[in-house]
Amino acid sequence: MAKFVRFLNNRGEERWGVVSSNGYFKEIEGDIYSQYQITDIVVEPEKVKILPPVNPTKIVAVGLNYKDHAKELNMQIPDEPIIFIKPSTTVIGHMDKIIYPEQSRQVDYEAELAVIIKNKIKNLNPDEFSQNILGYTCLNDVTARDLQKKDGQWTRAKSFDTFAPIGPFIETELDPDNLSIKLFLNGELKQSSNTSNFIFNVKTLVIFISKIMTLNRGDIITTGTPAGVGPVKKGDKIEVEIEKIGRLINFVE
Ligand code: MG
Repeated sequence: MAKFVRFLNNRGEERWGVVSSNGYFKEIEGDIYSQYQITDIVVEPEKVKILPPVNPTKIVAVGLNYKDHAKELNMQIPDEPIIFIKPSTTVIGHMDKIIYPEQSRQVDYEAELAVIIKNKIKNLNPDEFSQNILGYTCLNDVTARDLQKKDGQWTRAKSFDTFAPIGPFIETELDPDNLSIKLFLNGELKQSSNTSNFIFNVKTLVIFISKIMTLNRGDIITTGTPAGVGPVKKGDKIEVEIEKIGRLINFVE
């Protein structure tokens, strides 16, 4: 059981660490996907730059996966997950800036729980689910809502650079289907739900997607957003907070 963080140390080197109970990071040696050791090197979080916790080859996102969000949109509960891809170039980390694209007049936040894949998998056997998941983190599925409506499909709206803030930590040991999830815009609570409102739970989603495509080590499955999505503007501060994981903070520029 661990809470992982990836950061740049004061020599500009990329390091993995674990987050201690007092909030400090302890550098680790080795590979978080298999064998690693926690060292005695302690790092103050304020003194390092936190990086995105993984470099995925792709992000597979799920549309409309909360009962409260379906109700808010007056949409029927889908009988199979609706999925789409966000490219790896959308990824940014904790405290990084979301760039508001010139092509859009409405950019929305979407607070989501993200699943990190541990091993390369295809056609995942349900009995082998847990051992193939590294852990969970926060993700903001930033969306150019006007372009999503205009295009009738989602690639452009979901794919601008900086449209997938993730982090700050990966929590390896938790029940993903019973977590409080919140989004604050400039300190004001805008989304507040629980992953118990999922239409399709995490295990169902991972198995479903693994029957379509190979999932690589470090790939991300993001599980949809609850009710309360809304627009952002330049200068805004967005915080995605998920119980037991932490709070992902980003700014719009
Ligand atoms: Mg979404």
